[in-house]
Amino acid sequence: MIDYQSILNPVARDMKPSGIRKFFEIAATRKDCISLGVGEPDFITPRAFSQAAIDSILDGKTQYTANAGLMELRKAIAKYLDGFIGVNYDPASEIIITVGASEALDAAFRAVCAPGDEVLIPEPCFVCYAPLVSLTGATPVSVKCHIEDEFKLNVEEIEKAITPRTKAILVAFPNNPTGAVMEKSDLEKLAPVILKNNLVVFSDEIYGELVYNGVKFCSIASLEGMRERTIVISGFSKAFAMTGWRLGYICAPKPIIDVVYKIHQYGIMCAPTAAQYAALAALNASFEDGFAEVAEMREKYDERRRYLVDRLNAMGLTCFEPRGAFYAFPCVKSTGMDGEEFAYALLEAKNVAVVPGGAFGDSGKDFIRISYAYSVEAIKRALDLIEEFLNERKK
Ligand code: PLP
Repeated sequence: MIDYQSILNPVARDMKPSGIRKFFEIAATRKDCISLGVGEPDFITPRAFSQAAIDSILDGKTQYTANAGLMELRKAIAKYLDGFIGVNYDPASEIIITVGASEALDAAFRAVCAPGDEVLIPEPCFVCYAPLVSLTGATPVSVKCHIEDEFKLNVEEIEKAITPRTKAILVAFPNNPTGAVMEKSDLEKLAPVILKNNLVVFSDEIYGELVYNGVKFCSIASLEGMRERTIVISGFSKAFAMTGWRLGYICAPKPIIDVVYKIHQYGIMCAPTAAQYAALAALNASFEDGFAEVAEMREKYDERRRYLVDRLNAMGLTCFEPRGAFYAFPCVKSTGMDGEEFAYALLEAKNVAVVPGGAFGDSGKDFIRISYAYSVEAIKRALDLIEEFLNERKK
């Protein structure tokens, strides 16, 4: 008999499964469950983008691309980023097309982090950062963000968490799960601390296109002195409704990309070819029509966002205004339950699934994450049921 526990890598073996998935596996077993849990667009990929991938397959473009991805696509990404974040990357040496932002994050951590290093991870945050950092042998150090700061990074707490071992910091705005955004003026307060301590920045910008209410997205890479130490990670999943295509990218100065390239080359070879053609069509069409598809989806998210936040606040689930991504992060403390108790009780009583905030770190434990990447009808129905649930508990 093999003792499997003893043959497995202890770091991988002891990683906790994603708290989002754990909850949804339970929800998936329930009939007619209304879910506001999943973090992916309800829109399907615009038809023209899909057609470009189909055409590429039928034209016989079914082989590997260059390891770094189609040069045409890297050029289009360079053009896009130049316009969107005002940072210029060389398509030949500073951009790699990856299998989603997920691969880009993994490769970035593996290129930079080594045993003994510490990486600051502000939380609540997306679930993959700390486990992926741990796999490199480095230590993820969480730094809490607070609702009083609208879940932006608290620069003083970042400074306090820095030790001689701190190698890097993760910056992820608009944020999953809070919907918080750090605008240029906020990032300008953080940048001097990063420079003073010679930190590398992992900037997860996957929700950069999804900002509302007059917010202008700012990449930390665009601030003075930051491009040379920032690794920009993004992709097509969220803004272009392309989660299933698995297409992302990573941009950084050449010496960093040279190392990411080796990791990507050995581990992945290249991102799926047909998906690269779909992404190329997405960017080319967007250059022509002024990002009309993205704008249309953004408008719909915004409408749902306003409706959701107003109703949550009206029913006593305090929710600060999320100005980015497609999540609201209301506090459920007033109900006498924490996020996990609330989510289970709601699922049990009303068959509505939301994600306990603790899945995103301890500081989220009194919150729940509600995604508004669902139709207005689904959101309305779920909110009616949440309201009923709260009223019944008051009795
Ligand atoms: N970063 C954040 C903050 C996310 O929320 C997600 C997906 O939910 C990802 C990265 C991964 O995106 P992709 O589908 O491009 O791998």
